[in-house]
Amino acid sequence: MEERLIKKLMASMKCESCGQHYEVYNIDVIGHREDMWFLRVLCSVCHTQCLVAAIVKEGEKPSAITDLTETELNESEDKLIEVDDVLAMHNFLKDFDGDFSRLFGPE
Ligand SMILES: [Zn+2]
Repeated sequence: MEERLIKKLMASMKCESCGQHYEVYNIDVIGHREDMWFLRVLCSVCHTQCLVAAIVKEGEKPSAITDLTETELNESEDKLIEVDDVLAMHNFLKDFDGDFSRLFGPE
């Protein structure tokens, strides 16, 4: 999974305070462990900052034999991001104390 896809996903979410969509340049990827990504987002309108954890699963690679064009394959890849999981983690993190070192452990 690439950071640009994570940011693209986050940009589709809205600020809980004012409903503004997040801007890609206001989304920082803090780090990730396997399928779980941690991000810090800043609302460009009301400047509310929040921490987000997203579980983003990559689907199985398309098989080599396919009728899809390369563009269509790229589009289907984007759709494999599971938005429901992101929203669930987003709510979970409302009470998170921000101690990411505990989540990532010593490097
Ligand atoms: Zn806002």
